[in-house]
Amino acid sequence: MSSSFYSSVNSYVDRAAALLDLDDDIRLLLADPYRQVDMQVPIHADDGSVVTFRGYRVQHNGARGPFKGGLRYHPDTDLDEVRALASLMTWKAALLDLPFGGAKGGLALDPAELSDRELEAATRSFIHAIAGVIGPNLDILAPDVNTDARVMGWVMDAYSSQAGWSPAVVTGKPLDLGGIAGRVEATGRGVVAITSAALDALGRSLVGQRLAVQGFGNVGRHVAQIAAEQGAIIVGVSDVSGGRHRSEGIDVPALLAQVQPGVLLKEVEIGDFVTNAELLALDCDVLIPAALENAIDAGDAAEVRSPVIVEAANHPVSPEADEMLSGRGVTIVPDILANAGGVTGSYFEWTSNLTAFRWTEEQFNQQLLEFMDRAFRTVWEHHVDRGVDLRTAAYMVGITRVAEATRLRGLA
Ligand code: NAD
Repeated sequence: MSSSFYSSVNSYVDRAAALLDLDDDIRLLLADPYRQVDMQVPIHADDGSVVTFRGYRVQHNGARGPFKGGLRYHPDTDLDEVRALASLMTWKAALLDLPFGGAKGGLALDPAELSDRELEAATRSFIHAIAGVIGPNLDILAPDVNTDARVMGWVMDAYSSQAGWSPAVVTGKPLDLGGIAGRVEATGRGVVAITSAALDALGRSLVGQRLAVQGFGNVGRHVAQIAAEQGAIIVGVSDVSGGRHRSEGIDVPALLAQVQPGVLLKEVEIGDFVTNAELLALDCDVLIPAALENAIDAGDAAEVRSPVIVEAANHPVSPEADEMLSGRGVTIVPDILANAGGVTGSYFEWTSNLTAFRWTEEQFNQQLLEFMDRAFRTVWEHHVDRGVDLRTAAYMVGITRVAEATRLRGLA
């Protein structure tokens, strides 16, 4: 599937661009990534042998500011996937009106198969290789699948050891290295804010709604935790091992206490075990895929019972599934809106690093909600005014802003 991931994203770009009055040369410029780096990342393994991984950094579009995007570690990561994720970042940053372009990075490795020392060596090797094309005003990294604050600390140190103290080259850092309180939860908090806004717009309320969440990593677990705190009923959660289901609602704090690092959901004793396919088909009011891309394909779509899907992961619904679900009247809140709390929180951290001024967690959360609310209202207005689905509306807003910056800069 990953061979067509970039073309899937571009099909959404094309659909929205066709509804906008864009010059052809600007459309062509937006369709291609600005820069793609595909490199060998060698390390000395613990047994003394030399092991190499493939590493990628794609800078998709920088018309509105420095490139910005996460770094993921996954054995299946390839250039096409990273390119697609970089494109999503371009439209997401523009939709949130952040002064960033879009980028993404990936290392094709499984962190579970490496020692801590090997993982740190791979991170440093990768950063040394791309040091010439990243920087606080050039390209800023962040956590994504299988990377966290610890990895971001290594990124910051590897870059700073060449360029001098540069916390703003990466966000999602540990607090003691210039990280910001609220960033870890920001993507999940943003997803819950957008879910709540979407339910309000549909004449419902988050309180008492039954949510099923696929993926129990940084994004999924915070979605479950924050939504439950705000009165939603979490009827199902899952990770790569399968999930737990309880129709009366899962006790999320009790679950979080059991799911310590390294513990899988199939191992805990809360609710009933469900497979990932069963999780997607649960009877619920909102389905929130928060794992990986293309998690809901046409086969899964036929089984989905939820009337609302909020895309916490990037591109979790394949275009075929999207068409089927939309055709059935399912409301799909798109990734570039729903999970934009992460890059918005990263913007606050970057701003704090550049100005050397600390934000409080209260300031962070208040600003985050304001940015998310503004973006939601803009997308919803477009959706109503132009009579297009939410995804097309979101792309139309993002593309318009990127195209205008391109025109003003005289690039076309
Ligand atoms: P993570 O590595 O912390 O967690 C991923 C979760 O997905 C894990 O629980 C894993 O077990 C589960 N998973 C993996 N394969 C699965 C499968 N086949 N079925 C079910 N579950 C599976 O990653 P994350 O940071 O939470 O990111 C999740 C998604 O959100 C990705 O699409 C990522 O690009 C996107 N995202 C993350 C951030 C962020 O700030 N971390 C921001 C925006 C978007």
